[in-house]
Amino acid sequence: MKRNLHTKLSLIMVLTILLLIIVISAFLIRGVETFYIEEFYTQMQAFFGDPEISRELHSARRTDVRTDYALLGELLSVYSGRLGIVYGIRHYYVLDGETGAFLVGSETPEGGAFRVTPNVLTALGGAPGNSYSRRLDYMDVALPVTTADGNTYIIQILDTKQTASDLSSNLLAIILRTAVIGLVLSVFLSLVLSKTIVIPIQNLTRAAERVAAGDFSRHLGTPAQDEIGDLAQTFDNMAGQLKETVAQLEQAATLQKEFVANVSHELRTPLTSIRSYAETLLVGGSKLPEPTHQELLQVVVGESDRMTRIVQDLLTLSRLDGQRQSLSIESFSFRTAVESAVRAVALTAKEKNVALDLAFPSDLPRMTGYRPGVEQIVLNIVANAVKYTQAGGRVTLTAYTDDTRAILEVRDTGIGIPAEDLPRIFDRFYRVEKGRSREMGGTGLGLAIAREMARQVGGDITIDSVLGHGTTVTITLPLEDIYAT
Ligand code: ADP
Repeated sequence: MKRNLHTKLSLIMVLTILLLIIVISAFLIRGVETFYIEEFYTQMQAFFGDPEISRELHSARRTDVRTDYALLGELLSVYSGRLGIVYGIRHYYVLDGETGAFLVGSETPEGGAFRVTPNVLTALGGAPGNSYSRRLDYMDVALPVTTADGNTYIIQILDTKQTASDLSSNLLAIILRTAVIGLVLSVFLSLVLSKTIVIPIQNLTRAAERVAAGDFSRHLGTPAQDEIGDLAQTFDNMAGQLKETVAQLEQAATLQKEFVANVSHELRTPLTSIRSYAETLLVGGSKLPEPTHQELLQVVVGESDRMTRIVQDLLTLSRLDGQRQSLSIESFSFRTAVESAVRAVALTAKEKNVALDLAFPSDLPRMTGYRPGVEQIVLNIVANAVKYTQAGGRVTLTAYTDDTRAILEVRDTGIGIPAEDLPRIFDRFYRVEKGRSREMGGTGLGLAIAREMARQVGGDITIDSVLGHGTTVTITLPLEDIYAT
């Protein structure tokens, strides 16, 4: 991957530089040529347009020793500075006005063969020739001049454009040299650049591989403040969330397994005793004395009742785990709901000789919610308080409210809960003393159900206990059920 990205970057840079060089050279070379050509024609116009010079040219007159055209040649030679005459590059010629034949010039054309240019042809026609074509490898002007002797000649200034092409090739050489340096630099730069991109990507790839293998331990940290940095940050967040989800799933799976094992165990115990008692009845049959017979049947009935309770509790729990059905929400007095739950255990309390006190302020507000749910919560807690309190003990219910919640404290002077059991006390099927709870008809699901129900409506249950002294359970419920709105 590294080489790939590097190659791509290098290629992009090299191509960009090459393209840039081609465009720049084309513009520069054309620019130089255009400048040179324009310069030539401006110079020619300035020279031939000068009335002084024009007058001098037209007043050439033959003498004893010189022809008029020789004089023209001499004049041009005198002005060769202004005309920019350079040997081998720019020349002046004086040609015959009728045939265009070479007469004199800054140099004699090679082999005497003179090139008749389109401008010379125009001048032969009597008009000044100053047209230009890029296709030609020279540029020239040709001007017909009539001397004082009445002879017509053509003055031609011809430039081979050598200077322009020399300049262009010099420029090209410089550009090429710069290009080579640029190309080397760009390859090096792309290497550095690709490294700054590739290394974080490699880190990300490795991190992704680690996460895929289930290792969430390492973080990428906070790298560069760019898009790749953002990606790394997002990746870290994602890995963190994934880690949490995996942990939750694992925990849920463990709980599920534990729960199934517990349910099986809880149901197997009564079933085993039902089976063994039924067997005794079957084998013993009518030989058993009537009281024993009666006793055995009582146990069978009692155990099946317990199974029914467990199954009922499990059904309640599974309903709580699922979507909350559209329960009938109503407005009711919190006090009345608590009282009706307390009434359900009043007889048991009386039989056990456990005192039940209700300490309620007179102005308890009304609640909006699912009344049977609230009663079930209170019942589970108060029933426990009565169940785990010895004869002569006391269960006290205190209620108060703040703006949004009703708080019910159920305090008992019972056996209490060992501190080490408190953290797990709300777990399904958790009991402090399995044997004793079962004897008392407990399923180990009462607290779990009560807290689940309270939490579902936005409330909670907490428990506080001192072993041997008693337990206080605090139920907090919203005055307005979160499902009420
Ligand atoms: P159970 O049906 O066994 O009572 P719960 O879920 O209601 O199941 O309670 C779980 C365990 O918590 C009980 O087995 C008991 O050991 C303990 N417990 C609950 N309430 C009290 C209490 N008020 N005093 C002492 N122990 C309690």
